[in-house]
Order: sequence, then structure tokens, then C-alpha cells
Amino acid sequence: MRNKIVAGNWKMNKTLQEGIELAKGVNDLLKKNAPKCTVILGTPFIHLTEVVKTVDNKLIKVSAENCADKEKGAYTGEVSAAMVKSTGAEYVILGHSERRGYYGETYEILKEKVQLALANGLKVIFCIGESLEEREANKQNAVVKAELEGSVFNLSAAEFANIVIAYEPIWAIGTGKTATSDQAEEIHAYIRSVIADKYGKEVAENTSILYGGSCKASNAKELFAKPDIDGGLIGGASLKPEDFYGIIEAYN
Ligand code: PEP
Repeated sequence: MRNKIVAGNWKMNKTLQEGIELAKGVNDLLKKNAPKCTVILGTPFIHLTEVVKTVDNKLIKVSAENCADKEKGAYTGEVSAAMVKSTGAEYVILGHSERRGYYGETYEILKEKVQLALANGLKVIFCIGESLEEREANKQNAVVKAELEGSVFNLSAAEFANIVIAYEPIWAIGTGKTATSDQAEEIHAYIRSVIADKYGKEVAENTSILYGGSCKASNAKELFAKPDIDGGLIGGASLKPEDFYGIIEAYN
């Protein structure tokens, strides 16, 4: 059975103190009711060390939201994969559409980031997904395939085992518009078939593919019940302990 995952992505929200409170809140809820899935908190860099200290590692794993495409050195303001790893974080989110769109992260840049993350012992939550325009032109399959080929299909099968895919249609992120569970299942199954063509059926069956885009407690259960949807990457609804817990509970 592949791993079921509910991962939060706080984005650029929460001061350090607020972030610690949020992490504590999620941890307290999970202490009362142990999760039936892997729970990950994706936080800004400055929160990582404190959030790692705050949560019970058996209940919650911690993720960065980005890392540099360079190993180390004179890159003012950047944070390397080795630095992320040194905080105790175990994951890094890469390829988010906000990073691709606002910060010009290309397939090549992301390829470097993924390789450095893996080389430093981090697992990668790699985001892919089409824009509204691309969906309306029925190009979603071509888009996700190109994103995989452009940044992660250079990896060996052993390396690819440390990749979690997050399918996040850009038109559903932060918009309140969720893909229907059938729409999501259709493209998740396609993504799995593309992985199978590249790495074989066994690797594809073992790859967790998360859905992201306005996922909340009220729609999580229906989405997660689909055979190729292995959990969610959650933005807005990860910013309050009860909201996030409501999604985790979909697996109870
Ligand atoms: C995201 O940005 O990863 C995301 C899924 O956001 P939201 O849940 O707010 O749509």
C-alpha cells in the first residue's frame, strides 16, 4: 500500500510565534486522535527549526516550501537543501505554481533543486498542474507530462522513490474552485500511467500522488476515496488547526 499523506503549505503566512502556535495546535489534536496518514507541515524557512522542536516527530513531519538551485556560496538570501536538512525537516515542496509563475522557476532550475534536495536526504513533494487556459484547451495531460519529463524523469528509479507528486490545477488554488473528484481521479490515473511508462508499474503503484486546490474538510473525503488520489496538499485550510485536522480526519 502506498503512503497516504496530508501536507499543509503555509506559504508566506504566520509570524514565527503564530507558526509555533499553529504547529502546537495541530500536534495537540493529533495527540488525542493519532492520524491514519502521514501528516506534514510545510512552513517558511524561519519556522522550520522551531516547528521541528514543537511537534512529535511520530505524528508530524516537517517540510520546507522551497530550496536553492545551488549547493552553497555567494547567493545572498538563498537557503540550500543542506541548510533545510540541518533543521530536522524531512521534506521540501518544489515546483509549486506560485514559484514557477512569480519567481520564474523553469524545468531546468527545478531539476537542479530536486537533485540537490535528494542528494541532501530530503524527500520532495513535486507540484505539477495546468492553468485554466490549458485546461480549457484540453492540454492538461500534455502539461503535467512535460513538467514531469522536464524536472524529475532524469532521476533513477531509486531516486524517484523519494518523490511525492502533488497535482495542483492552478485554477483551483486558493480560488474556492475544486476539481471534481472525477476530474481529479482522471488526471491522477493519467499521471500514474506516465510514471509507469517511465519507471514501470511497481514504481508507479508505490508513488503517492496528492491533490491540491481548495481542498477542505467538506470535500477531502470524496477526493481521497478515489483510487489514484493518495491525499492532499493543502494551502488555505492548513492555516487553522481545526480546519487542517478536519482534512486529516478524512482518513479516520
Ligand atoms: C496550494 O497552494 O498548494 C494549495 C493547494 O492552496 P489552496 O488549498 O489554498 O487552494
